[in-house]
Amino acid sequence: MSATQPNDISLQNFKKPFHSSSKRIWIKQPLACFTANELDARGGIVIEGERIKEVLPLGQLPSLPVDEVVDASELVVLPGLINTHHHFYQTLTRAWGPVVSEPLFPWLKTLYPVWARLTPEALSLATQVAMAELLLSGCTTAADHHYLFPTGMEDAIDVQVDVVRQLGMRAMLTRGSMSLGENEGGLPPQHTVQNGDVILADSQRLIKQYHERGEGAQIQIALAPCSPFSVTREIMADSAILAQQEDVRLHTHLAETLDEEDFCLKTFGLRTVDYLDSVGWMTDRTWLAHGIHFNAEEIKRLGAAGVGICHCPVSNMRLASGICPTLDLSAAGAHIGLGVDGSASNDASNMMYEARQALYLQRLKYGAEKITPERVLGWATKGSAALLGRNDIGEITLGKQADLAFYKLDELRFSGSHDPIAALLLCGAEKAEHVMIGGQWRVKEGQIIGLDLPTLIEKHKACAKQLVAG
Ligand SMILES: [Zn+2]
Repeated sequence: MSATQPNDISLQNFKKPFHSSSKRIWIKQPLACFTANELDARGGIVIEGERIKEVLPLGQLPSLPVDEVVDASELVVLPGLINTHHHFYQTLTRAWGPVVSEPLFPWLKTLYPVWARLTPEALSLATQVAMAELLLSGCTTAADHHYLFPTGMEDAIDVQVDVVRQLGMRAMLTRGSMSLGENEGGLPPQHTVQNGDVILADSQRLIKQYHERGEGAQIQIALAPCSPFSVTREIMADSAILAQQEDVRLHTHLAETLDEEDFCLKTFGLRTVDYLDSVGWMTDRTWLAHGIHFNAEEIKRLGAAGVGICHCPVSNMRLASGICPTLDLSAAGAHIGLGVDGSASNDASNMMYEARQALYLQRLKYGAEKITPERVLGWATKGSAALLGRNDIGEITLGKQADLAFYKLDELRFSGSHDPIAALLLCGAEKAEHVMIGGQWRVKEGQIIGLDLPTLIEKHKACAKQLVAG
């Protein structure tokens, strides 16, 4: 069943986004281009339909006539940024007084009762706001981890599917779950948890109904039990079996805080990675949010299994959780991607801002020489694509999807800068000038095509006020 669309006023009639037109567009001679590989794209990029047809080195012209030329001489071009961890609904509880200075566990305990009042209309507005904000920062694909299904919210993922289709972005919508309530020693209140059979049946329905396979997929579904302290061992193990049967990906929070490590030791008698292993999750199908508190032996095991780690620097700093050992994980064989995390612990959904913070936080751990702007942009693009199990997005090369973000360095903050790629992070680019997804323009001159942003903000603000008031 498709959910109702209570907020159609702000999003106007987007059709299925990715067309089959063979129109050829030449993104001509960009000021700079980060391809996320060794290719030189100084001559530009030729797009045909939804794919990249040619990557042109300096001085080279398109091999075939083109239908449209985009003068990119003042634009820095990146592969569309990929966000691999978020909780869109949390845009309704940004910068909320009672939790502004709380660490994870008390932060969660205070927020759970507020979040339990979520409605389909509120989720739709929150999803629109989070995705619009991401899109304006140059993000073209976003993963969301939605784990709240109180009574009346059974169609939460269906509501999100509608928004993704209307905005024309790509999304990995993860069917989250909570099944370990306070009565069984878990953290969430009892009325926010679901029974395992309900979770698995709904997961199966969503995969059947929405999961697209193959190149150019717009919507994908993954299975995402929330965290060790909010789900049972059974739902972790059953989700891993179902994911394998259905060939979809697995996602959860792990090793975010030392409180969580203590919880696992007390409840399961295991450290977090041993727990993950015991429920069948040490596989390259898995990507984890945060991944901070690992010892050397655990890092080796995670790398050998090809597990993906989504680094969420701002959330980790806000909740004072710790610093992800990115380079050690990467050296061991794990993939590293970036995520903004939910808006109650970030509170911005801006991928460029996140990349900037990743650069600085990781320099504190590993030094300046090893953490270059290119490495961090690689995490935000190609690395994030690997976390989502995709090889059709995340870099600029022949045959990949034409998902591109364009930045103009004409603001005051860039004046006097020299290296355009470094300037994006060091001077702090905040918004993309244009964004293209699957060969179609979604943002032009800083505006999302077809979205009435002032109306959306007005409704979302009212909804947030109401949610917190109860
Ligand atoms: Zn999270």
